[in-house]
Amino acid sequence: MFELTAPVSGPEPVANLTDPQGRRLEYLRLAVTDRCNLRCRYCMPAEGVASVGHDAVLRFEEMIRLAGILCGHGINRIRITGGEPLVRKGVVGLIENLAALPEQPEVLLTTNGLLLAPHLPALAQAGVRRINLSLDSLDPANWERITRRGGHAKVLQAIDDVLAAGLGLKLNVVVLPGVNDHELVDFAALTRERKMTVRFIEAMGFDGSGQPVRTLGGDEIVGRLASAYELLAVPRHAGAVADTFRISGHVGQVGVIRGHSRTFCGDCSRLRVDTQGRLRTCLYGVPAVDLRAMVRAGASDDDLLAAIRGAVGRRHPDGHAAAAVRLDSMANIGG
Ligand code: SF4
Repeated sequence: MFELTAPVSGPEPVANLTDPQGRRLEYLRLAVTDRCNLRCRYCMPAEGVASVGHDAVLRFEEMIRLAGILCGHGINRIRITGGEPLVRKGVVGLIENLAALPEQPEVLLTTNGLLLAPHLPALAQAGVRRINLSLDSLDPANWERITRRGGHAKVLQAIDDVLAAGLGLKLNVVVLPGVNDHELVDFAALTRERKMTVRFIEAMGFDGSGQPVRTLGGDEIVGRLASAYELLAVPRHAGAVADTFRISGHVGQVGVIRGHSRTFCGDCSRLRVDTQGRLRTCLYGVPAVDLRAMVRAGASDDDLLAAIRGAVGRRHPDGHAAAAVRLDSMANIGG
């Protein structure tokens, strides 16, 4: 004969954010600025994007509040993006505060590396364990043609600085047909002695021009790499955007992100909050909720959560269905 014990009444399980396709949202990409110290041709015009005024940009305390609400409902990773996040003063302090949230989310950084060296010790101290570094050419002249700025040597040095600091490193290369697609094999060669992942990204039309994008498809990229290396596929984990390969004899890996083809939407776990505090449920979609306006109008956490849940409930099944008529500049979205 056994006795029924009263169920242990712990705190109500927190309802995570799950969209109509059953995808759980666990990863927040938080854009801290639309400003950048580069002018990459596939992201913005030479004159840059019309920068939103100081007041229109989310304040750090507002970011921390919104991140707190989201982390309380399943977000466990926050990537700091931009523009170039390191141009915003105080970003290391923001990272410290985000890492200190009760749920202790992992905080990651995407940077173009120009300002990385002086910040690296503080970033590591603040809890950053993995960095995505953008570098679209190994040739200084070609890099300057793409970015319209100088400083290539600093970015190259940043690769070894990050590895020397013992942090995880992914090197992101946007593949631009006729511009840098001849460098794929040279980029992959970097992984022979460096424990990092070089990821080749299909060009996407986020330059704000509304013009169609010239892109080299993922299969073509893999084909070119396979013509030079024996590629060994690495099993893909849920939510991953890259198809990753080991190269025999290399300590690092290569990956391909089919950002234009959008073949990885099925288990997408990403939400975005852009520089102006607008929630985006898909990179390709239009902003779903103006969280900044709600915050400044005195909305409660429950109001904000209800608005976020509403947006997640309206989420499109993939980036094709979500695609806006005219894609904004990546600097305004946050990548
Ligand atoms: S395109 Fe949209 S749905 Fe697809 S992976 Fe990117 S953010 Fe997710």
